[in-house]
Amino acid sequence: MPPTLITNVRIFDGVSVIFDCGHVLIESGKIQQISEHPFSTALEWTIVDGSNSTLIPGLTDAHVHVYQDLTFIETAIQYGVTTVLDMHNESEWFKKMKAISCERNDVADIQSAGLAATVKNGWPSAILRMTASADPTLEKRILGWPDITDKETADQYVAKNKAMGASFIKLMQEDGCTLSLPFPTRPIPTPRLEVQKAVVDAAHHNDMLAVAHALTNDSVLKMLNAGVDGITHSSLEPVNESVINTFKDTDAFIIPTFAVHASSSGEEKHTRERLAADIADTREKDHFLGCLHIMHTGFSIQNAYDQIASLKEAGVDILCGTDSSEHLVGTRAGASVLHELWLYVNRCGFTPTEALASATSKIAERFKLKDRGMIQVGRRADLVLVKGNPTESIDSLYDIVGVWRNGERVVWA
Ligand SMILES: [Zn+2]
Repeated sequence: MPPTLITNVRIFDGVSVIFDCGHVLIESGKIQQISEHPFSTALEWTIVDGSNSTLIPGLTDAHVHVYQDLTFIETAIQYGVTTVLDMHNESEWFKKMKAISCERNDVADIQSAGLAATVKNGWPSAILRMTASADPTLEKRILGWPDITDKETADQYVAKNKAMGASFIKLMQEDGCTLSLPFPTRPIPTPRLEVQKAVVDAAHHNDMLAVAHALTNDSVLKMLNAGVDGITHSSLEPVNESVINTFKDTDAFIIPTFAVHASSSGEEKHTRERLAADIADTREKDHFLGCLHIMHTGFSIQNAYDQIASLKEAGVDILCGTDSSEHLVGTRAGASVLHELWLYVNRCGFTPTEALASATSKIAERFKLKDRGMIQVGRRADLVLVKGNPTESIDSLYDIVGVWRNGERVVWA
């Protein structure tokens, strides 16, 4: 592939705007040079005029479930999402999707937890029994999930996931109290705390991050005290000082997933409409505009907004993630990331720059993805070109004119 030069473009490197009118040279899949001054070009180079546009790093969604849905990673990249972090998936399905993302640049790259650290009859079987009940293999698959009950099974589980190709470990601290789902028992079983701690220790011993699902303040505190590196949802309860302080003390990050919370509570449908307008397929459009309506009274997305606003104020790292999957009505691969970022700005007082950083450099830093997430010489040329200036108006993100993955242009406006 000949080199590509993107000229006269505003460059947001993942942290800040480094040049208002800069030039970026892409070669062999990497960012080769970034300059304020024009380059002398060669005839065979592909030149892209970036006037009135902004170049940003490819976006990452830090909470998705790809399962074996190829259209998920195909659709995500159309919205500038070049990497997705898969927070629970069947090993065989992940390996299949990973192989495709290594072969093709026109799909998002996938990094996965593999199967989460589940316990018999625990989360997430209940939600899948509701949202994926059409899948005839579901019950058989659930039977094959880990049943972690002690240190030994925790160690075995982490070793097995690592050998399979997992990049991080996902824990589940969910008793079902916030959601109206057909649980066989309530509370649904959760691993004992010493077992959760053993999973975290095993992950860290294997140099892997441990992140946890939690939806209540109590569950968040339990997981932070067990030593996890991050929480994969915002709590649905009112802000509580001890949650904020524990995040600060442990230096843990949080992945809000407003996209799924809004669907659970039946809100923000109107703010999805602008993105939905571009979806040609009626079934897909209805899926994105639908709502799960499964949040119990007493819990709310407003609480989630307040939680994230307070955590940001306290200096806690917020990493953009949506919990999108083909099974979850109200979400859509890629589109939900743009919606999520819009909500950070319009519901939680983020500056557009802070929102953009949460989907680029912050995720790269916290998940140790040192090869991407920033426009920096030597990093992957995973790039998004948008019309206008998304560091001033996050709405500009809805005007994507080009996406590159590994230096190959895969999206044209
Ligand atoms: Zn999830």
